[in-house]
Amino acid sequence: MAAIRRPLSIRERRLLDAIASPVLVVAGDDVPVLVAINPAACRLLGRSSAGRPTLESAIGPEAAATLAKAIASMALGGPGPSVTLACGAAGMIRFDLGRDPHDPGLVMIALRSATDPLSAIEELAQMRSVLESLPVGVEIYDRDFNALFYNGASDALFDYEGAAVLSHDAWWRHAFPDPALRRAAREDWRRTVAAAKADPSRAHMREWTVRARDGSIRTVQFYYRFLGDRFALVLWDVTEQRRLESELRAAARTDALTGVANRRRFAERLAYDIAAARSSGKPLALIALDIDHFKAINDRFGHAVGDEVLKAVAKRASGALRHDDMIARVGGEEFAALLPRTTGEEAKLIADRLHRAIVGSPIVLEELTLGVTISLGGALLRAEDATPETLMARADAALYAAKARGRNRVSFEGD
Ligand code: GH3
Ligand code: MG
Ligand code: MG
Repeated sequence: MAAIRRPLSIRERRLLDAIASPVLVVAGDDVPVLVAINPAACRLLGRSSAGRPTLESAIGPEAAATLAKAIASMALGGPGPSVTLACGAAGMIRFDLGRDPHDPGLVMIALRSATDPLSAIEELAQMRSVLESLPVGVEIYDRDFNALFYNGASDALFDYEGAAVLSHDAWWRHAFPDPALRRAAREDWRRTVAAAKADPSRAHMREWTVRARDGSIRTVQFYYRFLGDRFALVLWDVTEQRRLESELRAAARTDALTGVANRRRFAERLAYDIAAARSSGKPLALIALDIDHFKAINDRFGHAVGDEVLKAVAKRASGALRHDDMIARVGGEEFAALLPRTTGEEAKLIADRLHRAIVGSPIVLEELTLGVTISLGGALLRAEDATPETLMARADAALYAAKARGRNRVSFEGD
């Protein structure tokens, strides 16, 4: 048995015995020796207080061995670790260790049953650490919007001045540097808070784009709720989701091969431009383009070369159009050009320009150079067009006429 380095004084023992909480005092590092065990600890461990128990006999050999390791790994001074160990009939016991800073050879251990319910304060501390570690921002205020709690995720977004508490006005100035946007958002916030007050049974949500602490622009959802005399705010940074969504939206409207708009995007834009033309009284023209004998290019040079030709045609068509015009791939080797605010005369000029841009010079690919021809058919929006389809059908009919007249040419309705 290792020597006891410093037995406790009579007075220290009396004090220990007077404490209602279970306490052990242990000396030594490698092989800890039980120096004192108070009556409360004896009761907890189910032993009589008579005799001088060893650590092993007090808490059982396995628990004693684990406790010895915990003691050996403790830092000098200050509170140590907590370990929960099975102690025979006494069940699970939690040991909170602390080393005497003036006599590092002595370790004080507070014991309690690990199955005891937590105290209200411990419960609160646990709750706080759960809130603290949540991946969403949590803020709690009193009814007058004095901040009671911010968690780490909220700080990461909005701890602008590195200060624990930021005034309400300062937050708005940081988050919305633009005064007009700030005014609108604050008005929106006032309305949401009023709604949250009026209906505390559910969370009320607002999504705003704000400037975060690191200067980045973030899209954040704010969930508001009144809980009794507390106001809770949960913040959810959805920037990445929104970015991904807009990428997917763009991809869903883009032709993967050529990079120009696809049929879906074209249909949306056509509906929009028809409505705009109707309300402004401005003309609207549509040109349908189809590569001549494209099947023969595929048959002769292979599908991969056919794809390269489609890409080249799309690129040349885009380059020949004006800024507000739109070119789309609406079928396999069919394209359509939408020309807003464009008269028949102008549309014919643009159709000729498109034609020249595509057939005017051969397409140079890696392995070969080849010329293609296209046929174009044009039509203008009419008052009686009830749907976009009737306009498209007239452009297609004009295209068919161009094909019928020998291909490689422009034909307009009525020509
Ligand atoms: P026309 O002058 O009458 O328009 O003759 P065409 O051969 O161009 O017309 P047709 O409709 O007979 O053939 C179109 C061809 O386009 C058939 C199809 O295999 C090919 N095609 C459709 N989509 C693609 C594509 O994405 N890549 C390639 N390489 N070929 C395609
Ligand atoms: Mg064709
Ligand atoms: Mg075709």
